[in-house]
Amino acid sequence: MTELEDNRPATVRFAPSPTGYIHIGNARTALFNWLFARQNHGEFILRFDDTDEARSKTEFAEAIRADLDWLGIVPDTVAWQSQRGEAYAAAANRLREAGLLYACYETGEELERRRKLRLARRLPPVYGREALKLSDDDRKRYEAEGRRPHWRFLLPNFAENPFETRRTEVHWDDVVRGPQTVDLASMSDPVLIREDGTYLYTLPSVVDDIEMGVSHIIRGDDHVTNTGAQIALFRALGSEAPAFGHHNLLTTATGEGLSKRSSALSIGALRETGYEPMAINSLAVLIGTSESVAAMPSMTALLELFRPEFASKSAAKFDPSELTTLNRALVHGLSFDSVSGRLSDLGISGPKAEPFWNAVRKNIDFVREATRWWAVVEEGPADEETLDGDDLEFVRTAFSLLPPEPWDGATWSDWTDAAKAATGRKGRALFMPLRIALTGIRSGPELADLLPLIGREGTLARRP
Ligand code: GLU
Repeated sequence: MTELEDNRPATVRFAPSPTGYIHIGNARTALFNWLFARQNHGEFILRFDDTDEARSKTEFAEAIRADLDWLGIVPDTVAWQSQRGEAYAAAANRLREAGLLYACYETGEELERRRKLRLARRLPPVYGREALKLSDDDRKRYEAEGRRPHWRFLLPNFAENPFETRRTEVHWDDVVRGPQTVDLASMSDPVLIREDGTYLYTLPSVVDDIEMGVSHIIRGDDHVTNTGAQIALFRALGSEAPAFGHHNLLTTATGEGLSKRSSALSIGALRETGYEPMAINSLAVLIGTSESVAAMPSMTALLELFRPEFASKSAAKFDPSELTTLNRALVHGLSFDSVSGRLSDLGISGPKAEPFWNAVRKNIDFVREATRWWAVVEEGPADEETLDGDDLEFVRTAFSLLPPEPWDGATWSDWTDAAKAATGRKGRALFMPLRIALTGIRSGPELADLLPLIGREGTLARRP
């Protein structure tokens, strides 16, 4: 377990855009932040990156909160960027006054044409800052044509003349990846404000990180290249940048990135399938790290293992079948007390519920599969297998030898000993026909455990 060296509490944030349901890859980011905060006596902020009004939806934000809650992640603070426009406008003005935010009027096609020209001239395809050359008259002409400006942040990658950029390295010691370097001369001045006056993610994110006292920005490594410009923006706004950590991303089995649109792997869909939250948490955190993937029964257990730097640098393939293996391992270990409420919702309650759970939990992958065995105990055998010929004769004989009540864990061996003595059958030839008569299924929980639950009356009712 890692602790910040000076024991300062960490403040982290998970900043999803509420434009869809979160998936296991988003959960990885949330969990890295959550576990890091817990290890460092810190605070976890859930910050909705909802400045894109057209695509952000309250229902997605609510679903994200509910999904996090279900996973066991309860934010200390929840913030909405759509409510913080004034802070962003103030920061934009500050940058404008410092000459660091400039109006641009190019259309997408114009930019694309220039990009191709630069490539043809073997120049890096970055924005050439042509808008800095516009005169007031040029700007007025554009405005008269109905063009609205978008606004770019002037990166500090030059000495005197912004048209003569020079290599400008920005370094940070990434909490996950170790020392990182990016060159600000290799990138375009980022657009911070769109033509319609709305903000792209960068400025609100940096302004909030400053105002909310974020100490560590932990997120997917698709943001590594944004970090250089963001560090420059922190400085331009008079603040030192926080620490950064970029973890590897999860991909599908075929190597494609996960998307909020591919809802099959959404946390909500996985919950509906019946996965335990800790199966998802265990896989979401441990996959693609130097730890082996194993079912951690609690966040506390996961906390013991978690180290941000244990994430590897390459993407990790997410295999849903691994989730089932983990779920099975967790379900096998679930105590009755921890599931009794859920069992009761499934109609499994009363004095038999606890011994029943202890009898069946090792035979199921999902808690709800207990209902299949509850029906076998309470209602009668499943109609999957039938008996015929000698087996039928044998079972009829065995049923005439059922021990008297009370029944307990020894009844099964008393009964089968009697049947063996009477018929000479042993091993599988003895057990399997009885299992089929009692349950209608060829494999399942120990019959010694099931028999007292079925009871003498229930057993006699199954006599073929
Ligand atoms: N909304 C951004 C994302 O989900 C946040 C990135 C960040 O954490 O800075 O990718």
